[in-house]
Amino acid sequence: MSRILAGNWKMNLGVAEGTALLRAIGDHAVPAGSLTTVVFPPLTILAALARERRIQDPKLGVQNCHAEPKGPFTGEVSPEMAREAGAELALVGHSERRRLFCENDASVQAKMKGVLRAGLKPVLCIGETLAERERRETRDVLSRQLGRALEGIPARAPLWVAYEPVWAIGTGVVATVDEVAEAHGWVLEELGRMGRGSAAGHPPVLYGGSVDPKNASGLAALPEVDGFLVGGASLAAETFLAIGDALVKAEHAI
Ligand code: PEP
Repeated sequence: MSRILAGNWKMNLGVAEGTALLRAIGDHAVPAGSLTTVVFPPLTILAALARERRIQDPKLGVQNCHAEPKGPFTGEVSPEMAREAGAELALVGHSERRRLFCENDASVQAKMKGVLRAGLKPVLCIGETLAERERRETRDVLSRQLGRALEGIPARAPLWVAYEPVWAIGTGVVATVDEVAEAHGWVLEELGRMGRGSAAGHPPVLYGGSVDPKNASGLAALPEVDGFLVGGASLAAETFLAIGDALVKAEHAI
């Protein structure tokens, strides 16, 4: 199975830097079918990157969009507009959006519906805070976030999930292999319970939170990890591609 390497560039990189990074990613050779690569650039450079790509690789996505197709929402961009600019995927519910921009389970659910309406593939980000982990609420938080985000959405709708513990994002603190295995196990169980997965197949579940070339191999060896969503280390070709190589190597070792 192809594993997934996704890079969230956040509010970084202009056209020149982004184009150079996209080219370096596109030029990096991996065995055919072993890796699906996606980048989530700032919206302002999305269309330029879409024109730059020689083939549909890496795929492009948006870090955020509004739920509605159009209307009086100053400063916002609809999923349909994102798609027209070249996006195939959309991050939904990233913890920075939940924490810094007041997104909650209800707005995440509305965005999931908007993204699917526009024909984009949602990458639903879920994860517990440190306080929730310390109170041993991780499993409940993941179940609630999944349940609310997917309410009213057909079981066959396209979906990727990213498990991103909030305390590990941008902090340099990575979850241990055991913590990731346990949390991904819960996510898979919950997806199965919701009719969105079985032993035969399930939506890909990515891990995100301070992944770098040093810790990638250990995490990539977990069969529950279908890929990574990478923030800081996705901003340089060397580190991003080294993480991709770790995924490919581990895939071949399974
Ligand atoms: C992210 O923003 O989704 C992320 C995982 O960031 P970082 O890799 O920098 O922790």
